[in-house]
Amino acid sequence: MSQERKKRWVMVVDPDKCIDCKACDVACKRENGMDAGTDQQVYRNWITSKGVEGTYPYLKERFEPSQCQHCQNPPCVKVCPTSASYQTEDGLVAIDYKRCIVCASCILACPYDARYKSPQTKVIDKCTFCAHRIAEGKLPACVDTCPTKVRVFGDLNDPNSEVARLLATRHYRVLKPEQGTKPSLFYLS
Ligand code: SF4
Ligand code: SF4
Ligand code: SF4
Repeated sequence: MSQERKKRWVMVVDPDKCIDCKACDVACKRENGMDAGTDQQVYRNWITSKGVEGTYPYLKERFEPSQCQHCQNPPCVKVCPTSASYQTEDGLVAIDYKRCIVCASCILACPYDARYKSPQTKVIDKCTFCAHRIAEGKLPACVDTCPTKVRVFGDLNDPNSEVARLLATRHYRVLKPEQGTKPSLFYLS
């Protein structure tokens, strides 16, 4: 009997394509039951301005979309006293909400400020890579909604996937490599 190959979910981000339309933020909040109207202080994904380049009138503002990096060496998992934060076999960092005692150690440990206390559930939360959608064969909501296709999501263990092809043919970087977290988000450069 053949065993199914283990998946390794990653996201490849092309920040040059981002126009800061915030559709990914809205789609994420809608998909994950967050209040887009009043719940302004918590985000699973966000866009940071990286400044303006060029000479007038040929100016371009650069943006950097971000979210939980689904680190392969995740400090948030290491500090969790109840194992509420854990890694899945296919490369995700997940939270078992029932085990979360809201000690906030993971919020302090995350170098990317990816975690927050949910105003709705009162426990710690963050981007899940939309694991519920992946399980149904769908793309994460932020990937699906982006009009300029900034994010590409897929299985890095599949040599024919677009993420594998991009990482084999393009230059890329990860955020805060000095932290040694081994992120699953790769930024094309
Ligand atoms: S939806 Fe795409 S283009 Fe719009 S802000 Fe998000 S990443 Fe940028
Ligand atoms: S980005 Fe932060 S919350 Fe996400 S896996 Fe890494 S350390 Fe944990
Ligand atoms: S993968 Fe899902 S939870 Fe994560 S930022 Fe995208 S839409 Fe939000």
